[in-house]
Amino acid sequence: MRFDVIIIGGGFAGLAAGVALADAGKRVCLLEQKPYLGGRARSFQDPATSSVVDNGQHLFMGCYHSTIQFLKTIGTLDRVQFQTKLSVPFLDRDGRLTHLDCPDLPSPWHLFLGVLGSGSFTLKQKLEVLRLGKGLHNGGTTNGPANVESVTEWLTRRGQSEGLQRNFWNLLCIAAMNEDPRAASARLFERVLRLALFSSPEDSRLGIARVGLSECYTAAATAFIESRGGRVETGRGVNQLTVADGACRGVDLGGGERIEDVPVISAVPWHQFATMLPVDLARNEPFFAVGLALRPAPIISINLWFDAPITDLEFAGLRGTTIQWLFNRSRILGDKGHYVSLVLSGAREHVSRSKEELLAISLRELGGMLPAVRKAKLVHSLVMKERFATFSPSPEADALRPPARTPVHGLYLAGDWTATGLPATIEGAVQSGYTAAKEFLDLSR
Ligand SMILES: Cc1cc2nc3c(=O)[nH]c(=O)nc-3n(C[C@H](O)[C@H](O)[C@H](O)COP(=O)(O)OP(=O)(O)OC[C@H]3O[C@@H](n4cnc5c(N)ncnc54)[C@H](O)[C@@H]3O)c2cc1C
Repeated sequence: MRFDVIIIGGGFAGLAAGVALADAGKRVCLLEQKPYLGGRARSFQDPATSSVVDNGQHLFMGCYHSTIQFLKTIGTLDRVQFQTKLSVPFLDRDGRLTHLDCPDLPSPWHLFLGVLGSGSFTLKQKLEVLRLGKGLHNGGTTNGPANVESVTEWLTRRGQSEGLQRNFWNLLCIAAMNEDPRAASARLFERVLRLALFSSPEDSRLGIARVGLSECYTAAATAFIESRGGRVETGRGVNQLTVADGACRGVDLGGGERIEDVPVISAVPWHQFATMLPVDLARNEPFFAVGLALRPAPIISINLWFDAPITDLEFAGLRGTTIQWLFNRSRILGDKGHYVSLVLSGAREHVSRSKEELLAISLRELGGMLPAVRKAKLVHSLVMKERFATFSPSPEADALRPPARTPVHGLYLAGDWTATGLPATIEGAVQSGYTAAKEFLDLSR
């Protein structure tokens, strides 16, 4: 069969590009090296418990406009449930429970009144948040060296106390950017805050998938592409891009198998893209050298199954502990078990710890917050380390992220690491897929 375009990679970016191009009447051939689709946002059935486990709990947000559009197009938006308004419970290490509940008012009042009415902050901290929020809302806070500034430097310069940073901003920064605020880009964080908190109450809402992550999009996107004359193949890795005379001519699948004379969209992470590039291009073309200098940032997920309920909360931000977020998976998925998932993002300093050590830390911290944990019996656990979860959004990383259009004719880039202006997120991945599809359509007209 003859195809109009090859897409390499079956994560959010590749599938979004495939759906956009299939929608535009193109015959798409999508190749995924793994036996399953979903990439870094996927789910599987745990053999010991039969629970549906995500490779790490993902949160969506109302400001994920491209993702919402993508899920609408493939008909699965109802699998992600969005809050009616932003509401976040926080559990302190001693078990104190507070809430940030934002009323349904125009931005920024929804956030301001939410913060003022919340028990999560002292009066002094509330005033600090309002001061920063006012500056953001008026559009003028990066009048400092924001291009090179870290989040911590920026927050300190904006008068945010150490306690407020530790108990609020750092939690948001690590959740949204997957990086320690001392190493994360202030400019990117400021953009995230504007989009997520200071745009509109709808954009601030959190969304949680009510099914396994893969079930949210992989099969439906495949059906969409294949019903329009395309094909999605798993277990089909690309060895190398075929490049000659400054143009991409297709892909080499190894074992003498090639697909020739078809333009290519690469939707694989930066470190995997490097392995597909012909050596001379990797060495001599600065465009590619730049993007490949990005550094990874890990995420650890600790999944715990108990024999009795340990909390009624659906999720909570955890303050003053190593683990940062708690998700009550049984409640989220509507099953009868007592399964929770804990998230430790920006986990560089913890990733070398043994799984036993991480389990012990989690149980100790969780037991300090939720007395029921001390009485319940742990029946099963699964600790997962995603060492290449995202790229590290350091102040230097912005300049390293390449656009969709490359200097090689017929080769386009997608993926959360490309120049989306967003951290490595589902939204960044989907946006990048749409951008690459648009570039392809514009240039092939
Ligand atoms: C644990 C964890 C938690 C996260 N939490 C959140 C969250 O709460 N909210 C949020 O928005 N984002 C979150 N993210 C980030 C989000 O998952 C990613 O940004 C997004 O999934 C990236 O999608 P992608 O399509 O760009 O890349 P990927 O999902 O990595 O897809 C790339 C695909 O390309 C394939 N591939 C690679 N090389 C080849 C080859 N040579 N041939 C064929 N195929 C190839 C890979 O196997 C992979 O399937 C999280 C990520 C992790 C790991």
